[in-house]
Amino acid sequence: MRNLITGGAGFIGSHLAEHLLDHGEEVIVWDDLSTGRMSNLARCLGKTGFSYVISDITHDPAFEKAVERVDVVYHLAAAVGVQLVVNDPVRTIKTNIMGAEVTLSAAAKFGKRIFVASTSEVYGKGTKIPFAEDDDVLYGPTTKRRWNYAISKAVDEFLLLAYHESHGLPGVVGRLFNTVGPRQVPFYGMVIPRFIEQAKNGAEMTVYGDGSQSRCFGHVLDVAPAIHALVHNDKALGEVVNLGSDQEVTILHLAEHIRERLGSSSEIRFVPYDVAFRPGFEDMQRRVPDIAKARRLIGFEPRRTLDDVIDDIIASEQI
Ligand code: UDP
Repeated sequence: MRNLITGGAGFIGSHLAEHLLDHGEEVIVWDDLSTGRMSNLARCLGKTGFSYVISDITHDPAFEKAVERVDVVYHLAAAVGVQLVVNDPVRTIKTNIMGAEVTLSAAAKFGKRIFVASTSEVYGKGTKIPFAEDDDVLYGPTTKRRWNYAISKAVDEFLLLAYHESHGLPGVVGRLFNTVGPRQVPFYGMVIPRFIEQAKNGAEMTVYGDGSQSRCFGHVLDVAPAIHALVHNDKALGEVVNLGSDQEVTILHLAEHIRERLGSSSEIRFVPYDVAFRPGFEDMQRRVPDIAKARRLIGFEPRRTLDDVIDDIIASEQI
């Protein structure tokens, strides 16, 4: 099986590449290294069946030819992190929408199986917990920059579903809920690597708002195999599927827990959202996935706990 992973030098893409190589499959990583890093691919380099191309999928005619030569495409290239989304909305929208269109149209042209990574952000500020795939979504106004990420990824979902319905594209969307693990960098938001870095350095731990907002953190080593299983499951084609953990934790508890686990004496500092981002920034209060669909389709079970995630990140050499 030959696979092409856009955004393959990113945190999730590199774990997926390793997973596929470990299963004896071939992998071509395609990445422009805008946020991905070659160091993420250290374990892939030199493995049989691995190759990479450093180039922008939206501006390289060779990309379509590469899609033609593989069996499966994983589209993970996207803008990453709330900080980047808020700081650079033009880049976010272009990356998400043009990247998905180029990739989906090439996959549709050659009838290739494709997985498109979407995000729990697509649910917006919906309040019906847990979030199921067919639930309504609820966004803030277009004047609030954060929502451009949710809406541009929702457009990617619409595109895949449209290509599936009108061109018979064999594709599936995965909505990833706060995927975390080794190699995730703290630069673009990403609360767990940030808290770990702050606690390790004895720096103040920056809890945004009052810390009562909650998230569910899914270990990348549970998520990568699920992505692989989904794209090969015929019943999943033309579907949108939540992937992640349903173990919920508040951000304040997370900060305290990481501090305790590292034996750190860091202080916790509450930072208003307006200061952390920009005036009028909106956050989601809760975000919990309903994972019944993934369970039904591929027997998905998030086996690794929050402590496994924290311990694995602490143990990794990257931080
Ligand atoms: N957060 C925080 N301090 C930080 C970074 C993030 O309190 O230094 C909060 C953020 O406001 C959000 C949660 O942690 O409520 C998760 O943030 P992240 O950027 O990791 O992912 P999101 O769920 O917002 O996409």
